[in-house]
Amino acid sequence: MSHDPKGQPHALETNAVHGPHADRTGAVSTPIVHSATFSFGSLDAMIEQQRAGAAGAFYQRSGHPTLHAAEERLAHLEGAEAALLFPSGMAAIATVFMTLLRSGDHVVCVDPCYGGTQALLAWGEQRFGWSHTFVDTRRPGDWEAAFRPNTRLLHLESPINPTLAVFDLAEAAQLGRSKGATVTVDNTIASPVGQQPLAMGADFSLYSATKSIGGHSDLLAGAAMGGAERIAEVAHTREVFGPVPDPATAWMIERSLKTMVLRVRAGNANALELATRLARHPAVGQVFYPGLPAHPNHAIAARQMRNGFGPLLGFEVRGGADAALQLVNQLRVVRHGASLGGVESLASLAAWTSHKMLGAEGRKRAGIPEGLVRLSAGIENVEDLWADLEQALAKVATGSAAR
Ligand code: PLP
Repeated sequence: MSHDPKGQPHALETNAVHGPHADRTGAVSTPIVHSATFSFGSLDAMIEQQRAGAAGAFYQRSGHPTLHAAEERLAHLEGAEAALLFPSGMAAIATVFMTLLRSGDHVVCVDPCYGGTQALLAWGEQRFGWSHTFVDTRRPGDWEAAFRPNTRLLHLESPINPTLAVFDLAEAAQLGRSKGATVTVDNTIASPVGQQPLAMGADFSLYSATKSIGGHSDLLAGAAMGGAERIAEVAHTREVFGPVPDPATAWMIERSLKTMVLRVRAGNANALELATRLARHPAVGQVFYPGLPAHPNHAIAARQMRNGFGPLLGFEVRGGADAALQLVNQLRVVRHGASLGGVESLASLAAWTSHKMLGAEGRKRAGIPEGLVRLSAGIENVEDLWADLEQALAKVATGSAAR
């Protein structure tokens, strides 16, 4: 629940459709302003727009009206003071890290975190002498020892891909703050509908908006949200480096936000139903989904997540990596692809794609079985999804599936 500018309390679904300023021009859908630059009747008018920064209409790289409309709607949904959009999730994460870290600074980061973030930390190490210590999500009690006097940033992800491990974000944020670190949470998997890291004490919530925010697998984008002052610092870095989504993409993001609550709830409900059925299937080993009561972190997830437990689940096909590959090849409704949070269900193979680089030993250490299939539940009819999974599992179990 949040309040509109006139003080009326509105629920999430209402905020999603109307945003904070639906009546700004009278147009029900935000008009796309396709202009790289803007003109002014006076120098004072120009300076005013320049000073407004990301909220102004001065020059597109600083921010622009279509983008700002999307950013305001997103911030309103998250309950954040301010939001910034970027042309990819990695652009959002990199721009925030570049804002927060100076050369020689140290980062504490959960392991495994998204591979692109690991690559960013490795790049920062070479270029700027950033150092980092990975901490195991399964052992939060050990994290305190990872902090150093020069630790400036604690970077968190929960749930974690692909094992969907969950930890207490409020406790982790408190630890980071007590050590003087800024706390960032990559909230891509849960989405703003599923979890609100800022309300749990994080300084920034970060997103690949390519996923549930965009939601249709048709755009690449990222987002950073937080307090107005800290977001203004990030906006300066964005202006310096220039990763700004264009008006057409900004408009698509804003349009997607109107249905985000419905989409995410539907995908989350499908994920829970599929995880529950998969856990009972004889051809399936472990099932990783925080919504299942048997998941080791279910109680924490139930406390800190809302509107379900996310669209992403993992399950182990008995027979290892080869059996998992055969299964994915047999799917007819679920598509084989490596993303999540879209309206269409997608399956991918950890051992063959996202976690190939770890090698068999590394995967074992990270608790990733060789036959792990990562499934992002879309909004299709759940019976069609289940029938598809069942027929593919049956073929793998009887050995009639082709590789
Ligand atoms: N964070 C997470 C958890 C992701 O899954 C991804 C992409 O898969 C990213 C960040 C990077 O986002 P993008 O691909 O939009 O740059």
